[in-house]
Amino acid sequence: MVTWSVEREAEVKSMPLKVRNSLTRRKEILTPSSGGELKMFVCGPTVYDYVHLGHARTYLAFDTITRYLKFLGYKVHYLMNITDVAERVVQRAEQLKRDPVDLAREYEEAFLDDMRALGVTEVDIFERASEAIPRMIEQVAGLIEKGFAYETQTGVYFEVEKYPKFGQLSGQSHEELSLRRLELCSSKRNPEDFSLWRKYDKGLAWDSPWGRGRPGWHIEDTAVSMAMFGDTYDIHGGASELIFPHHEAEIAQAESLTGKAPFVRYWLHTGLLNVGVRKMSKSLGNMIRIRDALKEYTAAELRFYFASVHYREPMAYSHTGLKRARRRLSRLQKNFNSFTQAQVRGGGYEGKTSATLARYESKFKRFMNDDFNTPRALTVLEEFAAALGRMGRRVDQDSKMNLEDGFRKMANVLGILS
Ligand SMILES: [Zn+2]
Repeated sequence: MVTWSVEREAEVKSMPLKVRNSLTRRKEILTPSSGGELKMFVCGPTVYDYVHLGHARTYLAFDTITRYLKFLGYKVHYLMNITDVAERVVQRAEQLKRDPVDLAREYEEAFLDDMRALGVTEVDIFERASEAIPRMIEQVAGLIEKGFAYETQTGVYFEVEKYPKFGQLSGQSHEELSLRRLELCSSKRNPEDFSLWRKYDKGLAWDSPWGRGRPGWHIEDTAVSMAMFGDTYDIHGGASELIFPHHEAEIAQAESLTGKAPFVRYWLHTGLLNVGVRKMSKSLGNMIRIRDALKEYTAAELRFYFASVHYREPMAYSHTGLKRARRRLSRLQKNFNSFTQAQVRGGGYEGKTSATLARYESKFKRFMNDDFNTPRALTVLEEFAAALGRMGRRVDQDSKMNLEDGFRKMANVLGILS
């Protein structure tokens, strides 16, 4: 890893990384709040079933994003929560007549296995919601005390009206929001209010000042991320379908509690993975589990496939697309292997190789600095591999090592070398 330095900072500033921030709806230069360090939180899975390729798309995107931030020399603190306290976990456990904690642990393990198999290596800490319950209770109590939340016979609710910026992330007006009934419950003051705590006396439940129950999903993530990162941090990622109400609610809770804004400086969202015209999801029955996809394709092929579409764009899942990714990757690897396996002889390219490497590296960075444009970055690597293939053995040993190392570093950002 490259270390952060004055030179590094100057270099990064001369070729700034721009990201599309969902909060401002603009491409902005990414500047960490502290030197060369970035704190990033990404919404993790609800562990009640196997994860599918739609999840793979999001987690691979943020894995690649982290690898690229490190390639630039940043230190990244990457935190992901595991939603093991949720209605869906309880319901599935009841259906299967299983203990909800056992069920959640089993699917958490399966999730971590799938991530390892995909080469998702960059998450530093996975934090279970169930381990941050006292922190959630503290936050809910704080919101009641500050007048942002109220208790009813069914639970504690956040009063959306008290936070006028609600709707900023999803770009909705108060009128639009009032038409969206988030959770049907007759005890709420307003239909748009969302739950912070639900009262339950059975299933997964904890004691609280409002009786036994479970935290709401939104407060789980706010509590987990703030426990680790403090009142504000740099990047929050997740699938675009989480923008409303989940991320909107996270902002409302955190900013009401701390009085500090913005809670998160950059919000990054991945596009949906569709099958035909509908999104891939368990409820629609059109999902392909990661472990099943990995029986047919290698992790490198799947990573190449997902990187071939920009992470924010919606993507249509197709076998043809996957086969095309496989062919392109195989050609790239063949070119690269023919270069690495050739016996060096020298002649022809001496003195030009560092310029060649610098040229491809600069092109690669230019595309990746444009909101992580991986489709274009892939074509740079394909061109680079083809150029290496043409050089063959007409380089000396030092140049060969140099080029090979440079190529590997870029390819590893995308995780496409197996
Ligand atoms: Zn979340």
